[in-house]
Amino acid sequence: MSEKPKIALYWCASCGGCEEAVVDLAEDILQVVEKAEIVFWPVAMDFKRKDVENLKDGEILVSFINGSVRNSEQEEMVKLLRKKSKIVIAFGSCAYTGGIPGLANSYSKEEIMNYYYKEGLTVFNPEDKRPTPQYIEKNLAFEIPEFYERVYALDQVIDVDYYIPGCAPTRNVVKNSIDTLFSGNLPPKGSVLGASSKALCNECPLNDTKPEKITLKEFKRIDKNQPEKDKCLLIQGFACLGPVTRGGCEALCVKANYPCTGCFGPLDGIEDYGAKALSFLASLIDSNNEEEIEKIINEWMPNPLGIVYKYSLPKSLIFETKNKKNGG
Ligand code: SF4
Ligand code: SF4
Ligand code: SF4
Repeated sequence: MSEKPKIALYWCASCGGCEEAVVDLAEDILQVVEKAEIVFWPVAMDFKRKDVENLKDGEILVSFINGSVRNSEQEEMVKLLRKKSKIVIAFGSCAYTGGIPGLANSYSKEEIMNYYYKEGLTVFNPEDKRPTPQYIEKNLAFEIPEFYERVYALDQVIDVDYYIPGCAPTRNVVKNSIDTLFSGNLPPKGSVLGASSKALCNECPLNDTKPEKITLKEFKRIDKNQPEKDKCLLIQGFACLGPVTRGGCEALCVKANYPCTGCFGPLDGIEDYGAKALSFLASLIDSNNEEEIEKIINEWMPNPLGIVYKYSLPKSLIFETKNKKNGG
């Protein structure tokens, strides 16, 4: 029997990019295989749920789980993996803070179902059929996972030990995290692995062009304006979230002349990334006139959720409070 520690990889509501991030390890994945035995990785290898059920509780050293939780199958699987694992890691923005699928929380389940099964432009469904968890046809019973009312980040469903940030986590961040895990020198529970503890600006090549204080009369949309090269994007009026975002990606987007949209998530001690990002952007507006401020914001971001909560709506304290008030 193998003496190697066991690891598992699983995806929930995910685009597959986080699985790609593991594959991007290229030859470094061989070092992982040398050090550990993969006992579950449904996207790449033929494992079944039974294989996990047959393991002893705590037998898996680490489970890397990406994607957010949106349906009953995902909830069951992450609970099973939690039971069987010593360490559970939320891998990537979707598992860490709810990610892009979490933006669906700005709609109710009914609104989503209505769009996809009734109102969408390409939908043809004259009998208004909807998916149901149990379905019987010609004496055969079928079951599909139940689609939940909202999207959850992983630690809203199970206890999580560590977080690996990014949409998707970069190769270096994944490699650093794996090195930390196998070093045996584990940081305190709840830590973010593999990334920096400082804001992205600290590693941005344009940081030298960013003045101490920035004030703006307008924000520019990246889809309508071309930024100048070699000049901090924020002072040009693009909403670069580098000052409030954890570093570690080596400023990938900025190097491609695109503002940081915040996929590495909050710095230590910040609970609500979107609220922090919003108050940071609001603090840059050079006006005391309420009407002018409203005009600047409305022209720039008709839908602020998609900018400040692009990766973290399910972890928004404001959203949670509103949701609870509405009985959600
Ligand atoms: S974090 Fe990004 S890359 Fe990973 S599953 Fe979510 S959307 Fe895809
Ligand atoms: S471009 Fe963005 S990340 Fe770079 S220094 Fe300016 S604000 Fe910071
Ligand atoms: S620059 Fe920002 S959005 Fe782009 S990869 Fe880095 S943290 Fe993510």
